[in-house]
Amino acid sequence: MIERYLPYVGKKAIAELVALARNLQGLRILHVNSTYHGGGVAGMLRSLVPLMDDLGLEAHWVLLFGKPAFFSCTKKLHNALQGEEIFPEEDELSTYLQINEFFARYAPIDHDVVVIHDPQPLPSVSFRPKRELWIWRCHIDISSPSEKAWELLMPYILRYDAAVVSAEGFLRDGLPQRVSIIPPAIDPVSPINREMSPREVEEKLAQYEIPLDKPLIVQVSRFDKWKDPLGVLEVFQKVRRDADCRLVMLGNMAGDDPEGPEIFTRVREAAAKLPDVHLVTETDELLVNALQRAAAVVLQLSVREGFGLTVSEALWKGTPVVASAVGGIPLQIRDGENGFLVEPRDYASAAEKVLALLGDRNLRREFGEHGREWVRKNFLITRLLRDWLSTLGELLG
Ligand code: UDP
Repeated sequence: MIERYLPYVGKKAIAELVALARNLQGLRILHVNSTYHGGGVAGMLRSLVPLMDDLGLEAHWVLLFGKPAFFSCTKKLHNALQGEEIFPEEDELSTYLQINEFFARYAPIDHDVVVIHDPQPLPSVSFRPKRELWIWRCHIDISSPSEKAWELLMPYILRYDAAVVSAEGFLRDGLPQRVSIIPPAIDPVSPINREMSPREVEEKLAQYEIPLDKPLIVQVSRFDKWKDPLGVLEVFQKVRRDADCRLVMLGNMAGDDPEGPEIFTRVREAAAKLPDVHLVTETDELLVNALQRAAAVVLQLSVREGFGLTVSEALWKGTPVVASAVGGIPLQIRDGENGFLVEPRDYASAAEKVLALLGDRNLRREFGEHGREWVRKNFLITRLLRDWLSTLGELLG
């Protein structure tokens, strides 16, 4: 299985992975999050877990099953960790803790290492005798969290042996335990990123009645206020004044994000006033792939972002990206080399950059080539696997 990555990263990188895994043979490692579908975390686990297994670790992945009050609580905590002044209701909090307690008591945890992803399963560490190495893998930029949410979660976080965040500066004051930096990554052989022929791309778009008669501008994102979908419409409106083009916004609903349907309704109302806008909410990974390939420009206008894997996905397909300089996006976009960075909500600048790219095919090609190479070197799943193997090796001595 690991051999499938040889054409992308070469022999040396594969041999390094095998060497790093040698001391971890048979290590039982459990990943825990709260959805199999939707969002970047589930996507990464779908690739990372089998790859760890393939290299001789015994890797498993289980879900902490929530219910509406649980997800309402965790979405509020997520938003609060990203800086919004919001806090869950008392009953939501007690559901959150109760479900974590049940999980800790009854989930099949019989591992050497437990990796807890994000705030949803975070408190589970406190509800069982701790015999394993516990790692909190936080995918959120928590450089300016709301104080109240941070104080609530801090006692749980302190029970972890180590934490992993996506980028330098994602933790405001640091933590007393060991913190490793592991930027996320994309899988070049997954349905979202595998090669697609131009014909296959065309057929996929035809299935959704998206014509290729005009340049496409695309944003692929959950319908989430932090991804600023209304801002995307505003930028499109500005661009349309000077260039004929279409906009496609693709966003499925993540199982652990209860805000999606409400935001989508607002976007649909606003989009109804504009021509040539296509909104799609199907879960179809080949459609993500096809759109990122067919787009003249991909947008990612997030106001806050964890990492924003959709940026690397588009760059990998040779498509330039105009995106806001938040979260992990500046790591992926080298401004003026493979895309353009703008300030969040600066719609005039975003429109100007989109127009510059729409009007210059050579610039798009040049950015596209740089983008693919930048992602190949820095943001492929093999690098993520290497970072995890090194971190585990160091933590376990
Ligand atoms: N995605 C998808 N279908 C959609 C929207 C998003 O498969 O309709 C995928 C997207 O391609 C990416 C992930 O979900 O792999 C989103 O990850 P990202 O880090 O960009 O954002 P998150 O949703 O985790 O905040």
